[in-house]
Amino acid sequence: MKAILDHVGIAVKDLSAALAFYRDALGLEVEAAEEVTNQRVRAHFVPVGKSKLELLEATAPESAIARYVEKRGPGLHHITLRVDDIDAAVNHLRSRGIRLIDEHPRPGAEGSTIAFIHPSSAHGVLIELKQPSMANQPAIHSPSAISRFTLGELELISLSDGFWRIDGGLMFGIVPKAEWSVVAPADDRNRVTLGMRPLIVRGARIMIIDAGLGRTGDAAFDDVYGVDHRYDLDRALADARLAPEDIDIVLASHLHFDHAGGFTVRDASGRLRPRFPRAQYIVRRGEWEDATHLHSQNRARYQADNYRPLAEAGVLQLVDDDATIMPGVRVKRTGGPSTHHQVVTIESGGKRAAFAADLIPTTGHVTESWIPALDLYPMDTLAAKRAFNEDAVAREVLVFFYHDPSVAAGYIREANGQRRVIPALS
Ligand SMILES: [Zn+2]
Repeated sequence: MKAILDHVGIAVKDLSAALAFYRDALGLEVEAAEEVTNQRVRAHFVPVGKSKLELLEATAPESAIARYVEKRGPGLHHITLRVDDIDAAVNHLRSRGIRLIDEHPRPGAEGSTIAFIHPSSAHGVLIELKQPSMANQPAIHSPSAISRFTLGELELISLSDGFWRIDGGLMFGIVPKAEWSVVAPADDRNRVTLGMRPLIVRGARIMIIDAGLGRTGDAAFDDVYGVDHRYDLDRALADARLAPEDIDIVLASHLHFDHAGGFTVRDASGRLRPRFPRAQYIVRRGEWEDATHLHSQNRARYQADNYRPLAEAGVLQLVDDDATIMPGVRVKRTGGPSTHHQVVTIESGGKRAAFAADLIPTTGHVTESWIPALDLYPMDTLAAKRAFNEDAVAREVLVFFYHDPSVAAGYIREANGQRRVIPALS
C-alpha cells in the first residue's frame, strides 16, 4: 500500500493557548477554521511542508473530541494517511485480520472517502485512511468556497471559480524551487495550484471584483492549465444567494484571462455576451488600450473574447486614473503584471480592506522578493508591494488574496523583518 502522511490531528482543550504555541511560539501559519458541524468540531489546519497539523477544538460537550479531552487530556488524536485506492486498502487490511472501525469506507469531508483503523490494531494510534475526491489531484486545504466578512457598512464575500495550475517558475520568479515548493508543492509537470477568488462588495450597490477563468479555453487549454471547475463561480454565486442579474458593477483589476475569463458567456446560439446582464463593467483605460494592442510579451495572458463583447454590448466604462468606483471603494494603479494593473481599497466605518489581485497573488507573495516571472515590470511590483505591505501592516487592512488556493483573506504581520499572513476567520 502506498500512503502519504496527510495530516496529524491534535485534540485541543484551550484554542487560544494552543495558538499561542503553534502560531506564536513555533511561528507556523494557521489557516482559517473549518467547521465540521456533524462532528461538533472546529478544525484549524497548520501547513507543515507537504502535510498539515489539524488542531481540533470541540464546539459542543457531546463532541467526540470533547469526550476524548475529558478522558485523556489534550494531545495527539489521530494520524491520517492518504491513499490512492481506499477500497483496495481496506480489503487488504481486512484480509490480514486488522481490526477496522469502518468495515466499509464512508464519505468524509471535501468529497473524500475515509475509513478508520482501530487503535488496538495500530499499536495505540487511531489511524484514518483517506482517499481525496480525485485520487490524482493533490488535496487542497480548506476549499471553503465562500467566506463572508463585515467591513463597517459593507459586506464582503469572497467567492471561488475553482482552481487552475501554472508553472511554478513563472509564479515565483527568482525564488529557488527549493523554497517555493515548500509552500506550493509542484505536480509532475512543475505546476502549482492556484485559486481564483472574485470578491463581492455589497453596499448600496453590489459589485464583483474580477470573475475568474469562466469557460475560457478548450479541452487542450484546460489540460495545459489543469483547470478544476468542480466548484465554480456559478455555484459560488448561488451559495452566496446571488444571481448574475443582481450584480450592478463588475470591476476589473486587469484583463488577464484568469481574472476576466468570467466576464462573458456564450448564449444558446454560441454568441458571446456579458455574463452579468445588468452590470456596468469598469476597466482602466490604459489596461483596455494594452489589451486591445497586444505584443509578444503579453499576448499569451489575454483573450479578446473575455472583454471585446463588453464594448460591443455598450456596457464598458473606462476609467482614466485612480478613482472612487462606489462609496468606500477606490482603485489604485500598481503596475507589475501589466502596466495598468490596479488594486482595490475598500473602506467603511473606519475599517479597511484591500483586494490585492496579482500584486500579492498568494500569501507567500507577501515576501518582497516573491514576484512572478510573469510580471512585466518587477521593480514596479517591488515598489508597489512595499507600499501596500507597509500600509496593510500599519492600518490592520483585511487583505484578499485572489490566487491563494487555501486562504481567502488575512492580515499581514511583520516581525524581525519578515512578513507573514494571519488568515482571517470569516
Ligand atoms: Zn492572476
